[in-house]
Amino acid sequence: MDCKDILNTTYQQILNEENLGAVASYIPELAKVNPDQLGICLITKEGSSYSCGDAQTPFSIQSIAKVLSLSLVFSKIGDDLWKRMDFEPSGNAFNSLVQLESENGIPRNPFINAGAIVMCDIICDLFDDPKKELLNFIRKVSGIADLSYSQNIANSEKQTGFRNYALVNFIKSFGNIKNDCDQVIELYFHLCSIEMTCEQLARTFGYLANQGKQFKTQLEILSSSQTKRINAIMQTCGFYDEAGEFAFKVGLPGKSGVGGGMIAVLPNSYVIATWSPRLNTRGNSYRGIKFLEEFTTATQDTVF
Ligand code: GLU
Repeated sequence: MDCKDILNTTYQQILNEENLGAVASYIPELAKVNPDQLGICLITKEGSSYSCGDAQTPFSIQSIAKVLSLSLVFSKIGDDLWKRMDFEPSGNAFNSLVQLESENGIPRNPFINAGAIVMCDIICDLFDDPKKELLNFIRKVSGIADLSYSQNIANSEKQTGFRNYALVNFIKSFGNIKNDCDQVIELYFHLCSIEMTCEQLARTFGYLANQGKQFKTQLEILSSSQTKRINAIMQTCGFYDEAGEFAFKVGLPGKSGVGGGMIAVLPNSYVIATWSPRLNTRGNSYRGIKFLEEFTTATQDTVF
């Protein structure tokens, strides 16, 4: 069976199985989505693209966007980034404050909220108009010239983002936020508000499967060494407190978001994006994980 057949067969199989879990509702706008949608898109380095189900429906990519903020900061300041944060799994919830107390406001990695907030602070340092420059970067990487922030989602996050407000203030108390807390958290909420389809997501992250260059255009986003490091952090920290289980079951680096989206990368081969809004108890898409586990089992092709 070839990749396209495996994709279609796995998609049908997952559709026929029960769909467990609940849509994230702590951000009110996310709770409005139809929970039983399922989209898949795989794009290969050679240029083939295969989609199933709701692959053309835009959804809130949430924390998947943290890979983009990391890519922007890493491309601009290189290894100086690691003076402000670490690259170890946290073993704690993505929005936890506890480790910061004993680790002096240095977040464990760029994918927990604390780390992404520090990256937003660095972006505020780098640009006069950080919101505009971050969006320009995401437009360049994705190739979607008219991409915008979702104001509804950003506003919705503001209403209930108590822990994120706490995080930015707490980190500032250790001196690891340089800018005004309101400006930094505003940028963070906008980063998380980006919407894309599975097809756009798979295309956006082609550079992670091609040594830092986009598939078709060969546009360089990162060096190959930086790409290796981002893939490594995705492998160890990309799926909240389920990153070990994801590596065990799926065997690919990737990143998830509470909107139910996921990306996974087979370096030098393909990017796959999945979206299904119901989340398991660890905050990852129930069907997304099932799909990827079945898919890589059938293709027998993983980083391990
Ligand atoms: N904007 C979300 C938050 O800060 C991101 C959560 C996620 O997708 O991990 O809670």
